[in-house]
Amino acid sequence: MKKSIGIDLGTTNSVIAFKDTSVKILRNKENEELTRSCVGLINDEIIVGRTAYKLLKKDPINTILSVKRLMGGAIKDKMVQDMIKSPYYKFGITALKGGTEDAVAVVLGGKQYTPEQLSAEILKKLKRDAEEKLGDEVTHAVITVPAYFTDKQKNATRKAAQLAGLKVQKLLAEPTAAAIAYGVDNLKAGEAKTVLIYDFGGGTFDLSLLNIVDGQYLEAGTGGYRWLGGDDLDRALQAYILKRISTDYNIKNIEALIEKLPQKKRYLFDAQFRENVENVKIQLSSSMSAQLIMEGFEDENGEWIDFDLTITREEFEKIAKPFIERTIELIDNLIKEVGYEVSMIDNILLVGGTSCIPLIKEMLSKKYGADKIRISEKPMLAVAEGAAILSHRLGDEYEPIEEDGIIPLGEIVHTTNHNYFIKLKDDYDRDDYDRIVEKQMPLPYSSTKTYKTTVNNQQVVRIGIYAQVEDGKMEKMTMGFYTIEEELPIGSEITFEFYLDLDEIFEVFAYPRVNKSKRREIVLGRGGKDSKTLEFLANCLEKIFNGDYTQAQQDFFVKSAKKEIEKINKIGVDDHDSEKWDEIGTTIFTNFERTEELTESVDEDQLAILFATILINEYPELIGTEDTNRIRTLLTKVKNEDDPLEKIQATQKLKEITNKYPVLITLFTIKMTSDKASKVNPSDGLRLLQMHDQIVDHFRHRRRDEAFELLDKAIDLRNNYGGGDITGRGFDLKKN
Ligand code: ADP
Ligand code: MG
Repeated sequence: MKKSIGIDLGTTNSVIAFKDTSVKILRNKENEELTRSCVGLINDEIIVGRTAYKLLKKDPINTILSVKRLMGGAIKDKMVQDMIKSPYYKFGITALKGGTEDAVAVVLGGKQYTPEQLSAEILKKLKRDAEEKLGDEVTHAVITVPAYFTDKQKNATRKAAQLAGLKVQKLLAEPTAAAIAYGVDNLKAGEAKTVLIYDFGGGTFDLSLLNIVDGQYLEAGTGGYRWLGGDDLDRALQAYILKRISTDYNIKNIEALIEKLPQKKRYLFDAQFRENVENVKIQLSSSMSAQLIMEGFEDENGEWIDFDLTITREEFEKIAKPFIERTIELIDNLIKEVGYEVSMIDNILLVGGTSCIPLIKEMLSKKYGADKIRISEKPMLAVAEGAAILSHRLGDEYEPIEEDGIIPLGEIVHTTNHNYFIKLKDDYDRDDYDRIVEKQMPLPYSSTKTYKTTVNNQQVVRIGIYAQVEDGKMEKMTMGFYTIEEELPIGSEITFEFYLDLDEIFEVFAYPRVNKSKRREIVLGRGGKDSKTLEFLANCLEKIFNGDYTQAQQDFFVKSAKKEIEKINKIGVDDHDSEKWDEIGTTIFTNFERTEELTESVDEDQLAILFATILINEYPELIGTEDTNRIRTLLTKVKNEDDPLEKIQATQKLKEITNKYPVLITLFTIKMTSDKASKVNPSDGLRLLQMHDQIVDHFRHRRRDEAFELLDKAIDLRNNYGGGDITGRGFDLKKN
């Protein structure tokens, strides 16, 4: 029979668990409860776990650690940049060749791997080891992810599972998994509990506030810090130990000595020292002192020194204390952010390997009351246990049993982990964001918003959804396009319906506000071929609208793009990696090339028509009845004539007429700009309009000199507001 398991896919360690009558941690092939989330290479073969971690001693360049931090990341992301800069990570992190949106790759054995591929390798090992233990095929899993993971990061995790041949029953938030494992769901009907999950792991410190009501889990807030973990304690302890060695052995500059070691020896020393110090730290959680014995190096006088020293728990606690104080600070921040009081929290559940340190329980008990604190003997296993419980619950054989009024593990109510925004443009073409979903809203969630078109007869609408991540930065999550069929004046309203499902994945529908029958779903990128194609289309449109392209080129490309967008929105949201996306991408590419080749003349024709229309609508008095009438006739001919030769001749004549009035076309740009200017500076807007009218008046009374003098001034003022483009096109929206 096929089996399903729970997987804690951790930054430092991964854990697998299984539940039938009770929950069991499944030990790996090396008989360990924790599998190092480490990937290495032996004879071109990818290996995972402790054996890979040992390679750090020989070949740190090809030993991949903390790949979870790179999941769903872009090369410009702060997390990725921090990793590249960190001396702790010696392997290569680069932009993925042929990737989209500056996707990240990790270099292993000179080859590029995506973070998903490497995570898949870890999952494959976990799957294999579980199968060996259970004597059965493992096909399904609940995999845990941090509560703050974005859509992109979750998609990357799903992709990794797919590559490993695992069906994801559910991506479960790690803190929720921990709460399930601690059994806080065993509440009587009507009972409610608020728990704080304190997850102090290897590289990260995660906090989550959960409200558990009637077997439902509501995430009330997440916090913590992404660069605080056991690794920091290791580094601090390493520094302390080096200092002690310097005094004990009378060495002036121990760092310089290590620096001078030949590379091979240095790698070996670094890795051995790192491992030994971590072991000392771990030992000090259960003993009052620990010994560090290891091979050293030659001192400044050429004398060989070996390390042999005893470190007491007291010494270590002095080092650890400020880090634990920092975690308490972060707890207080989160409680404040959510608007809670400490008294409202029923339990603080300690999870993660670093939580084994006794001082943590001690300090938290002192601060928040010992009765609140809960910790198991092995806090680093709780998350996997919770995942296994849910995996069992979601399995076919599960039947809920209600005993003594205790509610069985029920529906988990998820809330949004981020503030979500849509990117718009403001009146001065600057980026502007509008919040569409607030953080901490229960899922599923929906909202409706209306925005305005930014140009006349806007054909295409780009909709980019951003999540506000740490330090307030906006991270692009996904994007899609909507086409407008009718000719709408600038400022027309387009309505959007946003739906967020249980996995915090967006669905978006759009329609012109006045015409709901045009309501259509916008297919959004999900990180596969879809995103690649959508990104490419956005880049092409960006170039077309902002580059040096003629009206005809713009028209041509936009028309072709509309066709492709309609195809895209028909593909459907589930088919995000199908070949159809490649085909559409190729068509867009071809169309873009054809656009580049388009000749100028067609555009001049279009411009002539546009100018002619302006002349007869705006300045009939100035061009006189004769030209007005001639233009009218010619325009009708150009628009309705079927005979191409007649059409060309009519267009030619239109050009001849419009060419007589370049000054009036310039004059019209003054009027156009007055609108735009009045939004920035109403007095300038009014001034431009007055100037325009005065110039018209001067021309009407044949005061040419005055007219031109004033026109010069008007042009100067106009240029402060972006100049005289009267053929502006775009694909953005602005706030309503
Ligand atoms: P992650 O969730 O980030 O993958 P874990 O929860 O497995 O990580 O925690 C790993 C960290 O816990 C490492 O820094 C490890 O040194 C530390 N750790 C494990 N056991 C102990 C212990 N008994 N005492 C102190 N630290 C420990
Ligand atoms: Mg963890």
